[in-house]
Amino acid sequence: MARHMSRHSGKIFNMVAAGVSCDACGKGGFSGKRFKCLLCYDFDLCSDCHEAGETGSGRHSTSHPMQCILTRVDADLYYGGESHSVETPLSFTCPLCAQLGFSEAQLRDHVTKQHGESASAQEVICPVCASHPSGDPNHLTDDFLSHLTMEHRPPRDYELVISSLTP
Ligand SMILES: [Zn+2]
Ligand SMILES: [Zn+2]
Ligand SMILES: [Zn+2]
Ligand SMILES: [Zn+2]
Repeated sequence: MARHMSRHSGKIFNMVAAGVSCDACGKGGFSGKRFKCLLCYDFDLCSDCHEAGETGSGRHSTSHPMQCILTRVDADLYYGGESHSVETPLSFTCPLCAQLGFSEAQLRDHVTKQHGESASAQEVICPVCASHPSGDPNHLTDDFLSHLTMEHRPPRDYELVISSLTP
């Protein structure tokens, strides 16, 4: 029993958190929530600065879509530290309209229906890659819908649906 526990390793999380610092107050290696802008390349805020509406010194603005990313410590606090794999608890922000709270499948659905062709009009950072401990934290894509359907393929059941959406 409990074999699935070995699927994720705390090491990866620590490495990710250690490399991030807040772009407004400069605090580095913080634990807890961080907020990552999905339009500005490599722009992260600690939760204090995010709540205070800090924008740092660059082109970032409070209207930009922000992806909330939990560190391992927080994920354990939120979800009791058991029986949840790392990829389930996240809620994603749509980088195109800043709407919050999607699961990966819902986000794919939302982008397909709400943004469709215009999903390729803007260069954004993928919130799924950014949230994933082993993903690329600054994966820029100028065709978010294709990226979602190609790189974040759903389990087999959905393959028929997806293949009917892609040309
Ligand atoms: Zn800060
Ligand atoms: Zn920004
Ligand atoms: Zn959207
Ligand atoms: Zn991605």
